[in-house]
Amino acid sequence: MKSIKVRLELNNEKRSLAAQHAGTARYAYNWGLAKSQKAHQAGLKRPTAVDLHKEWVVFKHTEATWAQSVSKCAPQEAFRHLNNAYQRAFQMEHVRLPKFKKKGQKDSFYLEGSIHLKGNRIKLPKFGWVQCSEMLPQGVVVKNVTVSRQAQHWFVSFKIPYSKTLQKAANQSIIGVDLGIKTLATLSDGQTVAHQRPYRQQKRKLRLAQRQASKKYIRGKSDQNQSQNYKKAQAQVAKIHYKIACVRKDALHQVTTRLAKNHSEVVIEDLNVKGMSRNHKLASAILDGGFYEFRRQLTYKCGWYGSKLTVVDRFYPSSKTCSGCQKVQKELSLKERTYCCEHCGLEIDRDLNAAINLRNQAVSYTASACGVFKPPNDSLVRDTLKQETDCKIENVQDCVSSV
Ligand SMILES: [Zn+2]
Repeated sequence: MKSIKVRLELNNEKRSLAAQHAGTARYAYNWGLAKSQKAHQAGLKRPTAVDLHKEWVVFKHTEATWAQSVSKCAPQEAFRHLNNAYQRAFQMEHVRLPKFKKKGQKDSFYLEGSIHLKGNRIKLPKFGWVQCSEMLPQGVVVKNVTVSRQAQHWFVSFKIPYSKTLQKAANQSIIGVDLGIKTLATLSDGQTVAHQRPYRQQKRKLRLAQRQASKKYIRGKSDQNQSQNYKKAQAQVAKIHYKIACVRKDALHQVTTRLAKNHSEVVIEDLNVKGMSRNHKLASAILDGGFYEFRRQLTYKCGWYGSKLTVVDRFYPSSKTCSGCQKVQKELSLKERTYCCEHCGLEIDRDLNAAINLRNQAVSYTASACGVFKPPNDSLVRDTLKQETDCKIENVQDCVSSV
């Protein structure tokens, strides 16, 4: 299945209806959570999603009459979410018990039933026809959607089936991709993709907006009771965050689509992003680049296009190996931007060298068309692999030097 997420163009009336739905979903979640906690404390069985919904129907007709104008799907799905959250917490050790939801944080709700798509419009239960920001897929059946808010915008997301593999470009080749701090991606064919650093670009604006908001914040008052001016300033902060996220996502989508569509096999490195992020100087550079997101997108897009994604072991010394003669250099600091091989005299851009090495690790790699690059010597690779694994990475700097 393929996920689609499109912005909704809501008028004021539908905008408040959306807010009402999200509010009801949140209220129901918290209402169910309070009941579950009570049952838990009393040593009773936790109410299931079905139990909660039955109670909710009674509650809705007696006390919470304001919830009657909202689709029943919204609270129903909230109870299912709550149930899942509990189950995850019980099954997995590192997952905590569900917490109460706050207004404005991840506002969303669920709808199902009669949903139709036509051109750039979508028909939703309770909402009727709603304009979208772009064309929607045609001839597909959508059974349910999630509507969520990001900054000032509302989005609709749903899943559609996709034909097993999408049309690929004609000339397919194997490509190695080296992700870095200087350039987002260096490809083994010599092309590079520059970093978009939206956070860095927007940092000043963001700080200013945050300062404005904090000036207007009145202590001792709850978030809901803050002034209109504070809420406006807060919306401005959210708008900048949203812009940053959009720029980042768009840049990554472009490069990951290009890679998955144009290459039969894409080879990347298994980066220890967590380890690297511990180093403060590099942390923002790396997280800004969205390495995790890069791999996530590449994974599902390679699925769409039927390309192979090979992830090379983290301990493979892609930066320290010479792409010409396969000898491994012992020392290579992050500052050295050019790789100079002492053995064969090769001088090559550091990132390109790593990208070529990664490409040579491709599973389906046999011989290159131009004959310049030799296939990897298996025993040599195994040796270096072992070497690197033996001398465990002790500090972050080491880890980074293999980027
Ligand atoms: Zn060499």
